[in-house]
Amino acid sequence: MGDDYVKVRVQLEQMRSFGEDAEKEEEEEEEEGADAEEQQQLPGSSPPHAPVSPDPSSVTIAGSDASSTSVTCKQRGKSRSRPGRDDKNSCGKHLQDLSLHGSAAHAGKNLNRLGHERTLHIRGTGKILQGKSETNGNYVSIHPSKNIPEVKLANKRRPVTVDTAKAKTSLEALKISIKQLKWKEFPLGRRAACDIYWHGVSFHDNENIVSGQVNKFPGMIEMLRKINMSRAVRTMQELFPEEYDFYPRSWILPEEYQQFSTQIRMVKENDATVNPTFIVKPDGGSQGDGIYLIRDPSDLKLMAGSQAKQGVVQEYIHKPLLIDKLKFDIRLYVLIKSLEPLEIYIAKEGLTRFCTEPYQEPSQKNLSHVFMHLTNYSLNVHSGNFVHSDSQNTGSKRTLSSVLYRLAAKGVDIKKVWSDIIALVIKTVIAVVPELKVYYQAEIPPGKPGPTCFQILGFDILLMKNLKPVLLEVNSNPSMRIEHEQEVAPGVYEYVPSPVDKEVKVGVIRDTLRLMDPAHRKPSVSQPRAAGFEHGEEIPLEAEIQERSPDEAALPSLCLKQVYPKYTKQFNYLRLVERIASLFIRFLGVKGNMRLGPTAFRTFIRTCKLSNSNFTMASVDILYIDITRRWSGSTPDSREAGMGLQAFVEAFFHLAARRFKSLPMREQVASLLDLCEAQLEPQSGAEDRRSVSCSRALPRANKTQSLGLTNPQLNSPTPLRRAASQDYRLHQRLKPRSLRANVEN
Ligand code: ADP
Repeated sequence: MGDDYVKVRVQLEQMRSFGEDAEKEEEEEEEEGADAEEQQQLPGSSPPHAPVSPDPSSVTIAGSDASSTSVTCKQRGKSRSRPGRDDKNSCGKHLQDLSLHGSAAHAGKNLNRLGHERTLHIRGTGKILQGKSETNGNYVSIHPSKNIPEVKLANKRRPVTVDTAKAKTSLEALKISIKQLKWKEFPLGRRAACDIYWHGVSFHDNENIVSGQVNKFPGMIEMLRKINMSRAVRTMQELFPEEYDFYPRSWILPEEYQQFSTQIRMVKENDATVNPTFIVKPDGGSQGDGIYLIRDPSDLKLMAGSQAKQGVVQEYIHKPLLIDKLKFDIRLYVLIKSLEPLEIYIAKEGLTRFCTEPYQEPSQKNLSHVFMHLTNYSLNVHSGNFVHSDSQNTGSKRTLSSVLYRLAAKGVDIKKVWSDIIALVIKTVIAVVPELKVYYQAEIPPGKPGPTCFQILGFDILLMKNLKPVLLEVNSNPSMRIEHEQEVAPGVYEYVPSPVDKEVKVGVIRDTLRLMDPAHRKPSVSQPRAAGFEHGEEIPLEAEIQERSPDEAALPSLCLKQVYPKYTKQFNYLRLVERIASLFIRFLGVKGNMRLGPTAFRTFIRTCKLSNSNFTMASVDILYIDITRRWSGSTPDSREAGMGLQAFVEAFFHLAARRFKSLPMREQVASLLDLCEAQLEPQSGAEDRRSVSCSRALPRANKTQSLGLTNPQLNSPTPLRRAASQDYRLHQRLKPRSLRANVEN
């Protein structure tokens, strides 16, 4: 620390010194109030109710009435400027135009929009916008709903400050939330540090933040791209095939094309009646861009210009649950409140997005019917059949609760569905956390002042006909727009409030802010469930009673439900790769590194006493070179040389298989982890006593104690490791083991 950080601080000061007079006044007011007792109060308000569908009879299950037509889903052009299409990593990118083979009628309306000057009217406000907004050049202002309760401050406290300058399309929902909480917004940023920084795209939207909390984790965008996500889940599938069967079988392109091709050929040769369908997705894509369905590997479009296309090809779920004969998917909002300790919240309300053409099982004829097969709002909104509805239980976008209630009225066990969805979310987060921790320590190494992070993710989930939830993807930047665009005349668009979006998204943002309130930040407020569910047992649907101080009693109940650490007992045994990541991080050595060099790998082997006469240091070097070379080929964009986490995990699995030949694979890995951690125990004991959360939630005094040379923040404390190990063994006793052939090298 030292010079660099002083420099950063000075830069930050300079950066923020564009402050306006008005802002200075506000700051002075704040400082006056800073010593006042921190207390706030909201008038009581009941949480939103989900309407029960009046017509449960029209729920249908995907049938076999596969009368067919034909598909080619074409990538849309990128021509019309549209601010803040921020779904996933496409934030701020331009709206792309849609053209479909055989769907000219649908596409025509959209094509008409090309090249028109943009004029945006805000309905009900009389505002006309062209490019920038009317108030500060940064945002479009929409009237907040009159009936949303606002926080009343019982006693004066320094309001929580939120920098919204980079919020992009989340801004409207964010403004409403801040207003409800009576917090203080800084729409142009602020000279002094804010408590919370709300970014529209990534951790790096504002550079040089040295304190407070940022609503993005470093590396989240990279981690959730389709290829990385598939790899992370696949690693978990290797260890826990049954637990991770909610993710469709996927192959990474172009590197696994041969495997894909061979496997499908064999399946078809074995049974001529089998004719599976696959969905091809470009790696960095979102909003359905570039997605198409195929029935034969030879239909894959592998090259783009002279470049091999990066992406995944995935088993297509051909029997989805239908409502009103339409395919739909669920957008669920999930808050990762902290990585260490892991804290996950799920929004009790979400959205469902409906296709706009009745579903038929895929056939050669209908493969290109995007309005039948793809549920993306951004696509279907251009269909003539799209229904914008102010009601939550009709139209092409509905609340999740309205859909669940409708299913319940049909006799579906929605508690089971919800419980399966929660399990899917926790398992998915567990799959991506190891690599996120690597990114985190590289960005904010221990000792470097930096913010803590939290993030709202958008999970896209499909329900199968048999009600099993399937994970389609996770969006690092789910759209938080609460208005939608309407074309009122050629080239003239109106932003009109979307009640369904507002209902759901304002709740998610407001309650995320409440959970991140610095006055409430404590190490880990909630305790893991002491006992109760065994593996596979259902998790209750009903709302949690949140632990709340008397001051908070008047707040509307949180729409975010804590699921982790609450269900630690059920899921902790899955966190094996995270323990491998802790070892990896420990041996990274140089601050800011994300890759292990050959010497560091040797040090790991030596320190953990993994070499012997059968496995010499020369073999260790060969293993290192072999695995690293293969992985560097599969990640051509990697700038750093060395062994990344995924390669290290592969090496670890290999070492585990050598060492514990007779055990099933996951026990091999668990045993090797125990062995390595035991070797490191004497060293880590001291560190563990100093260990703090990597969410940096502890008071300053504690934090400074953790500034060691190694990275105790990201190593699970010894008791946690032991607990994970014990959980794992308990799980092994409870579940039948799936035996796996031993690997020998
Ligand atoms: P994008 O990021 O472009 O939205 P998704 O992975 O979400 O990509 O896929 C787009 C849409 O395609 C989904 O919303 C869903 O309707 C459909 N889809 C994606 N994967 C599958 C699958 N494996 N089986 C069936 N439908 C799928």
